[in-house]
Amino acid sequence: MSPVTHFLSGWVFVNCFRLNRRERAAVTLASVVPDVDGLGIIPELLTRDSSHPLLWFSQYHHSLHTLLFAVVTSFVVLAFTRRWGTAALAFVSFHLHLLEDLLGSRGPDGDQWPIPYLKPFSDHLQLVCHGQWALNAWQNYAITIALLILTIWIARRKGVSPVEIFSTAADKPVVAALGGVPAAISEAM
Ligand SMILES: [Zn+2]
Repeated sequence: MSPVTHFLSGWVFVNCFRLNRRERAAVTLASVVPDVDGLGIIPELLTRDSSHPLLWFSQYHHSLHTLLFAVVTSFVVLAFTRRWGTAALAFVSFHLHLLEDLLGSRGPDGDQWPIPYLKPFSDHLQLVCHGQWALNAWQNYAITIALLILTIWIARRKGVSPVEIFSTAADKPVVAALGGVPAAISEAM
């Protein structure tokens, strides 16, 4: 699925729990971070027509969709938040991303992008889902719209939106525009 869908699902997931702003940010970002390995698409597209194209996306996409990187991410979240429970939620949030990719990330050429879950220790386990739908299938749009509706509902109910991850000042007018009452300093929520 797209990073936007992963981001929104991480946000909706984290709001099922009572966490402070820093924890909400960490757990939400844990649901997007596996796609850092997809940034190779930029040099790949830029060099597509050159005599020495860089195939960094084709070669490395999904190379961080692994158990090892999930553990690394969880420890980074632990260092950042100092709470084991939040680190565990980041671990789950990361796996939510893997589940979403398994369900709905079939490439336009039909490639299933198998997830090498145990890399670099073993190449044997390559996760795929047989009923997987395409990246641009209606299901992904439907899920993204549902997550957007839930995000608006959270803004109205709790007074926070995912914008707070980047700026609390910018979050307040967004929450107000969505019909919510911006939470007072939401660190303690
Ligand atoms: Zn992914």
